[in-house]
Amino acid sequence: MTEPDHACEVLVVGGGPSGAAAAYWLAKRGHSVTIVEKNSFPRDKTCGDALTPRGVKQLVDMGLSTTLTTFHQVNGLRLVASGRELELPWPSHAIYPDHGFVVRRNELDGIVAANAVAAGATLIQGCEALTPIVERGFVRGAMVQPEGGEPYELHAKYVVVADGADSRFGRSLGTFRTRDWPFGTAIRAYWESPRHNEVLIESVLDVKDRKGNVLPGYGWIFPVGDGTVNVGVGLLSTFRDFKSVNPAHLLESHAQSIAERWQISPDQALCDPASGRIPMGGSIGPIAGPTYLVVGDAAGSVNPFNGEGIDYAYETARMAADVLHEALSSHDASVLQRYPRLLDDEFGQYFKMARLFARIIGRPALMRELTRAGMHNRSLMEWALRIMSNLLRPDEMGPAEIAYKAIDKIVRLAPNA
Ligand SMILES: Cc1cc2nc3c(=O)[nH]c(=O)nc-3n(C[C@H](O)[C@H](O)[C@H](O)COP(=O)(O)OP(=O)(O)OC[C@H]3O[C@@H](n4cnc5c(N)ncnc54)[C@H](O)[C@@H]3O)c2cc1C
Repeated sequence: MTEPDHACEVLVVGGGPSGAAAAYWLAKRGHSVTIVEKNSFPRDKTCGDALTPRGVKQLVDMGLSTTLTTFHQVNGLRLVASGRELELPWPSHAIYPDHGFVVRRNELDGIVAANAVAAGATLIQGCEALTPIVERGFVRGAMVQPEGGEPYELHAKYVVVADGADSRFGRSLGTFRTRDWPFGTAIRAYWESPRHNEVLIESVLDVKDRKGNVLPGYGWIFPVGDGTVNVGVGLLSTFRDFKSVNPAHLLESHAQSIAERWQISPDQALCDPASGRIPMGGSIGPIAGPTYLVVGDAAGSVNPFNGEGIDYAYETARMAADVLHEALSSHDASVLQRYPRLLDDEFGQYFKMARLFARIIGRPALMRELTRAGMHNRSLMEWALRIMSNLLRPDEMGPAEIAYKAIDKIVRLAPNA
């Protein structure tokens, strides 16, 4: 059965950051776009809830600057390791703001989806995209099923695949992860803390397992500003013993180790810990088919330097919307094939460097040495933060840009891994 009211130019599968942003930019340009989201907002998404300056810019561009003032603003990062602390402001930049936010995803994602609706998109919540509709080899929509209802066909000229890290819909179209590239796993829970209103997010670089061994990854404490802090640990697959680490135990020992400073009761988390896999570094493809594009986590668009994915979800979605707008306006589907090139130009080399970095710090001894050296050298950490949060200035040559350029030359010669 087809529901004619729901036939549209672009169907977006998934209403998280990438799906909502794609729908916003398409609707803004007057296209008929429908999002199907299998959950109903407000819906939770396991996350650290941290928005970096890059992500903030995307939200401002989507017209959400007034809403941002209601979120908890953070002005920089505190690094903790080797018994030392370093407080660093977000690097200054001509395009990106000098602050980020911490906001729970059950709040943020509903707001961004509602913003897409305000721009003219249709949002069908509690409705899962089951399988693609394929006509003469071209994807033309999806069989969708509302919760407790009958499946029906939702037809579209083009489809945006924005169904997140697991991306069952994407995989049914043939996307796959490059298995020998790094990925991450992370776990988080919330605790009450009197320090919930702090204006710095915190990263602990020498996160240890129960036996006191330092592991490659980082622990975080992100103050939410609502009486709680989001506490979590992220780990990289490049670590030899990755599979034998129990993330719940890791979070437990991280919470113990920060309990005194953050005044939390480690055994009194406000919820069960939740974990998730993080595909990263553009490790998933192909990201363009003749009539569909893949965005956000479904495309592995997460920064391997820090596990940040919300911004890359917004940015890849915006690029996909630009390409689809052009295809719809020119009645030329071949335009979609420009999308992988656009992504590669923007993030390809940067992600390659970040994947190599993930390999280097996969060796605990190296990670330990790098951390120790960095924690004794403030300016080194300042430029490392600029590189790792992707806030390099195209028109200025500071130490970070010079270092990046030098490393970039070497990375270009390195094999893709
Ligand atoms: C523990 C953890 C901590 C993290 N911390 C941070 C952080 O602090 N900052 C940061 O920037 N990033 C962080 N990330 C990464 C970030 O959460 C993701 O990169 C981001 O959510 C990607 O957005 P997305 O829209 O691509 O996918 P998602 O946010 O996963 O959205 C996908 C949506 O699609 C829906 N969906 C799935 N399948 C279907 C279907 N078949 N039909 C209809 N709907 C469907 C889902 O319900 C979901 O709403 C973290 C990840 C984890 C696991």
